[in-house]
Amino acid sequence: MRQPLIAGNWKMNGSQESVTALLNGVKAGMGDVAKAEVAVCVPAIHIPLVQDLLKDSAVTWGGEDLSVHDSGAYTGEISASMLNDFACKYVLVGHSERRAYHNEDDEVVAEKFEVAINAGLIPVLCIGETLEEREQGITEEVVVRQIEAVITRVGIDTLGKGVIAYEPVWAIGTGKTATPEMAQEAHATIRTRVAKSDATVADKIQILYGGSMNASNAAELLAQADIDGGLIGGASLKAEDFLAIALAAN
Ligand code: PEP
Repeated sequence: MRQPLIAGNWKMNGSQESVTALLNGVKAGMGDVAKAEVAVCVPAIHIPLVQDLLKDSAVTWGGEDLSVHDSGAYTGEISASMLNDFACKYVLVGHSERRAYHNEDDEVVAEKFEVAINAGLIPVLCIGETLEEREQGITEEVVVRQIEAVITRVGIDTLGKGVIAYEPVWAIGTGKTATPEMAQEAHATIRTRVAKSDATVADKIQILYGGSMNASNAAELLAQADIDGGLIGGASLKAEDFLAIALAAN
C-alpha cells in the first residue's frame, strides 16, 4: 500500500513573515490529516526557518533544486550536503521550470537524481509533456524518455528510492488541470514503464500528480488507482487550501 504524499512547491515565493504564518497554519490543521505525509519544498534561503518551524511536527521539508557538485566555485548553487545539513528529506529534480529556464536536460536531471540519492535525500523526479508534445500525440514517448534517462544512469533499484511527479507542463500554474482520466492514463504509462524493469519497484514507487491541483479537484485526482499524491504549487501557499488537499487524501 503506497502512502499518499502531498508535497508543496513554493517556487520563488515567501518572506520570513509569510512563511511563519503559513507553516503555523499548516501545523495547526495537521491533526485531521490521517493518511498523507505532508511535505514542503521551499526556496533555499527559507530552509533554516522552515526547519526551525517544522522540527517538532509531522510535516517534512526539502529543497527545490540541488547542484550536481558537492562544493566549490559554483556561485549561487546549493549542494546536497547543504540540504542535508538542514535535515531536508526531499529535493525536487527536473521541475519543468528548471528544464525550461535553466536548460536542464534529461542527463543533468538524471545526474541530480543520483547525487541526491547518494546524499541520502529523496529526489522527487518531475516529468511531463509540454502542450505541443501532447498535441503531437507524443506524451507517452516523452515521459518514457524522461524516466529512462534516470533508469539508464542509476538503475531501477535506485529509481525506486525516489518519488516520481507527473506534471503536464501545460497544467502548471495555468489553472488547467488534467482530467482525472488523462492523469490516470499518464500515471499508468509511467508505472507500466517502471514495471517493465521491475514489477516490485513499480508497485512501491509513489507517483504524484502536479498541475493546478487544488482543494476542489484533489479528491477526484487522488482517487485514481495510480495517483499517489500531489505536487502542489500555487495552492501550497495558503494553509487552508494546502490542508484541504492533504485532507482529500483521507
Ligand atoms: C508545480 O510547480 O509543481 C505545480 C504543480 O504548480 P501549480 O500547482 O501551481 O500548477
